[in-house]
Amino acid sequence: MTRSSTVPAAGTLPPSAPIDPDAAISVRGLVKRYGDSAAVDGLDLDIRRGEIFALLGPNGAGKTTTVEICEGFRTRDGGEVRVLGTDPAHATRRWKAQLGIVLQSGAGDSQLTCRELLGAQASYYPEPRDPDEVLELVGLTEKAGARGRSLSGGQRRRLDVALGIVGRPTLLFLDEPTTGFDPEARRQFWSLIRSLRDLGTTMLLTTHYLDEAEALADRVGVIARGRLVEVAVPSTLGGRGNAPAVVTWTEDGVRRSEATPTPTAFVQQLSARFPGEVPDLAVARPTLEDVYLRMIGDTL
Ligand code: ATP
Repeated sequence: MTRSSTVPAAGTLPPSAPIDPDAAISVRGLVKRYGDSAAVDGLDLDIRRGEIFALLGPNGAGKTTTVEICEGFRTRDGGEVRVLGTDPAHATRRWKAQLGIVLQSGAGDSQLTCRELLGAQASYYPEPRDPDEVLELVGLTEKAGARGRSLSGGQRRRLDVALGIVGRPTLLFLDEPTTGFDPEARRQFWSLIRSLRDLGTTMLLTTHYLDEAEALADRVGVIARGRLVEVAVPSTLGGRGNAPAVVTWTEDGVRRSEATPTPTAFVQQLSARFPGEVPDLAVARPTLEDVYLRMIGDTL
């Protein structure tokens, strides 16, 4: 599956857009209150089938609440939600069998072995994956006979991911899936996620790792104070696509920099001033983290 080019580059939904019954997830005006405060406060969201969508936002923004309402784990106080065409508030077993869920707090302290846990989970689904294949996919083959409680933090998280995908889900929810992973495990996880997308799996991911969102997501949505602030492809979020580049180099022993909308022309001029290579030349655009932090700062 290729990344779609039909997605609007940026922006949130028009306020009057009706729910999209063909989307993997379609949410309109979602509200969830705890006491006097609204954890989710009129949120609109569409996630298309086959895409990886990353939900970003600061602690307490409402990401987990939104995701758990879509999973059918929490009730809502207002708005409309359709997940694979069904309202999660009226979930059926058949509908649930199409979902894979990796919660923030995972399998934890089990007495069962990894293979037993996966076998038990697989038995709930009509067309599960082979547990041993899944263990290999997440890099836990050597731990197949180990009890859940004996695994390290990162290995437990991999087991959580394995439990989420063993049912061969159409739609996979991943709530901060790589917390506790070492850098190599995170890269392996990314390639696992890409191969799941190639198989047609839609994924909704929440993460605090902006590099993870950039590496994986077809689109990112930023939530702040229970509302969706912007949806865009990672390269254009927050005006990133039009932001000036910063050219840095060393001249006369001093580190210099210039912000410019035309870095190619600037580097050409610069290179004319030096006989060979421009010393320590670098051209950088704002990272996803830069624009995200600015957006969140503006919102809060
Ligand atoms: P994080 O990045 O820290 O996981 P989040 O964006 O997932 O945060 P939520 O867990 O959805 O945020 O929480 C949103 C708000 O709702 C927070 O202010 C939180 O304290 C509140 N909240 C969540 N669950 C409950 C609950 N069961 N009872 C009361 N308040 C809750």
